[in-house]
Amino acid sequence: MNNNLMTHVVRPAHEKPRASVSGVSAASLPLERLRNIGIIAHIDAGKTTLSERMLLYAGAIHRAGDVHHGDTTLDFDPIEQRKGITINSAAIACSWQPVVGGRRGEKHRVQLIDTPGHVDFTAEVERSLRVLDGAVAVFSAVEGVQPQSERVWRQANHYGVPRIAFINKMDRMGADFNRVVADMRKRLGANAWPVALPIGSEADLRGQVDLVTMNAVLYGPDVAVGSEEPWVIADIPAEMQQTAREARTQLVAALAEIDDAMAEAFLAEQDPSAEELRAALRRQTIAGRIVPVIAGSAFKYVGVHLLLDAVVDYLPNPLERQHNQLSQHENEAHKGEPEADPSAPLRALVFKVAWDDAGRRRAFVRIYSGTLRPGDKVENSTLDTVERVERVLEVRADHEVPLTQCGPGDIVALTGLRRSSTGHTLCTVGSPIMLEPPTFPDPVVSMAIEPKTRTDADKLSMALSRLADADPTFRITSDAETGQTLIAGMGELHLEVLLERLATDHGVNTTAGAPSIAYRETITRPAEGEGKYIHQNGGKGMHGHAIINIAPSESGSGVVVEDRVTGGAIPRQFINSVRKGIVEAAKGGVLAGYPLTDITVQIVDGSYHDTDSNEMAFYQAGSLALKDAARAAGLRLLEPVMAVECTVPDDRQGDVQGDLQRRRGRVLSVTPTAAPGYIALQAEVPLSEMFGYAGAIRSLTRGRGEFSMQPTSFEPVPESIARKVITQS
Ligand code: GDP
Repeated sequence: MNNNLMTHVVRPAHEKPRASVSGVSAASLPLERLRNIGIIAHIDAGKTTLSERMLLYAGAIHRAGDVHHGDTTLDFDPIEQRKGITINSAAIACSWQPVVGGRRGEKHRVQLIDTPGHVDFTAEVERSLRVLDGAVAVFSAVEGVQPQSERVWRQANHYGVPRIAFINKMDRMGADFNRVVADMRKRLGANAWPVALPIGSEADLRGQVDLVTMNAVLYGPDVAVGSEEPWVIADIPAEMQQTAREARTQLVAALAEIDDAMAEAFLAEQDPSAEELRAALRRQTIAGRIVPVIAGSAFKYVGVHLLLDAVVDYLPNPLERQHNQLSQHENEAHKGEPEADPSAPLRALVFKVAWDDAGRRRAFVRIYSGTLRPGDKVENSTLDTVERVERVLEVRADHEVPLTQCGPGDIVALTGLRRSSTGHTLCTVGSPIMLEPPTFPDPVVSMAIEPKTRTDADKLSMALSRLADADPTFRITSDAETGQTLIAGMGELHLEVLLERLATDHGVNTTAGAPSIAYRETITRPAEGEGKYIHQNGGKGMHGHAIINIAPSESGSGVVVEDRVTGGAIPRQFINSVRKGIVEAAKGGVLAGYPLTDITVQIVDGSYHDTDSNEMAFYQAGSLALKDAARAAGLRLLEPVMAVECTVPDDRQGDVQGDLQRRRGRVLSVTPTAAPGYIALQAEVPLSEMFGYAGAIRSLTRGRGEFSMQPTSFEPVPESIARKVITQS
């Protein structure tokens, strides 16, 4: 790997810019030439292979890794390599000078953030999408739009991330470019239009037609991987000329519908130049109104250059995304403020925390405005604290480089921050603003774990707290009665990987109980409750007394406690104790020991005693009042429900559907997929019915079906099942 710069760095004049193979000096690189992008895909679509090829051609690595051998640059974590899944978002940078199509563009820095395709690691995708400026969506030319790519696509919609698409694996048997483009339109609702058509397919894949320049980009049978330009630009082969002309006309017509300049040219029947077409594609891609699509094969190196060109040509630079990156509220509050300005107050978002082997903590941040230097004090506006940054580091796939300064558009790792965590905003001290944090779903599966030995026990809590610090979807609690440690997360695989990490990274071995469902409790109607903790036995007694009203509130609102006490029935200094008692009692549950949530509690009345009242007594009174009120409020158990998507052969549809219904599932839709003979089935099924589903779908489809699932909501458990859960708890 070379020393390419990956962040936008302003260096003191006396400091020489570091060499980079491609000759880009970060100091001389304007923000317009920076691209922070992610690659999003269904697992196995070829994201890792494509990233490797891009980095290879952009000079950031010298040899393409091969995922079969577990040595690719982005999958540097040994656990990832074993599982064959890219779990952590690795960031790596390269520089690229658009080359194809007979032009030599200016050098750009492309920073690639890898995002995992597996839904159990959804937090990684969420936080990456929050800080990216654009994305390349990779689809398999054989399988088309697959469940996880659909999910990530929707996540990207949520964050308004402009996208281009790469239809990969055009060399594989059964590859069908047009079918996948149609699939993108139908299943993703994407306004997808080819900008590069494949020439040939399957074993006969020879290159592409660039519809912007109307040239052919041809690759020889033995692509010279090491050579700088292993392609030749040629005339479009005669047999494709008609198809290419039609495709270009369709592309221009599609743009004319959404772009004024193109509409004018279209009405005047003028053929737009390559520059005009490129400019319109750029405008509309950034506006999220079109998705340019490129055909290729990462494995065979076909189309990778054109894709890198497209990243530069169509995806936004940090200046063009600044508005979208901030929430509407933030934009309103800061109207008129200079954007992405290195001399403006600092605004940065922490999107990831990681601990290295030596126990050092790194907070990964995206800088939106201002300049940050090692040693700077920063205000964490989320926590309302001030922390000091020790070092500012460039992040590579496997090492880091200290910087003297960083600014808008940069993605860097900071050391020295102890408490700043994922989703927090860092600002110039005295000038706080709050950036919108990424959102993370609540855990749905939990597991009890026990340390294996005394030594393991000593290290357990520190190791767990570091894992939870790094992963906002991982929670740790302890069972109040048994004292057991409970871990909770997004699914079995998520917890399995974390336990493996506990053993390999932290040397802590544990035994884990069976995974169980993270149920919740809630109430169905308002009620009143009273808690009295009053003892009088001779000397100093106890007197705590609270009356509360409790009411259901909207899903996801948690526990809200309001103080409505008038006339000093409970003295000020004890209200907080009542509040704590209520919150703690809600955490422990009332019906079956699961957290009671989505409630609003009003403390309305109570009484006190001049000498016997104390914090402990009011804490107990709060706890008792909550339990009393909840019992009268129609308690109900909620269970996590998963959005399940199965891709199965159409002749197995009946069996798979029947099986899902037996699992209390609701089938929502059945749609044909890009792969002939396969259908996609969408359903919502309670998680408690989905344990072991991987085996079930395998046998129902003779190994040809696959599925993915993600938490979607919490819903009431039917009475008969709830009774069982309650008696077992
Ligand atoms: P990821 O899970 O999306 O990162 O996918 P990988 O890059 O790990 O690729 C999954 C599998 O598909 C690997 O066996 C790759 O060698 C293979 N693969 C990736 N791209 C291509 C391609 O363009 N053509 C073919 N034939 N295989 C590919």
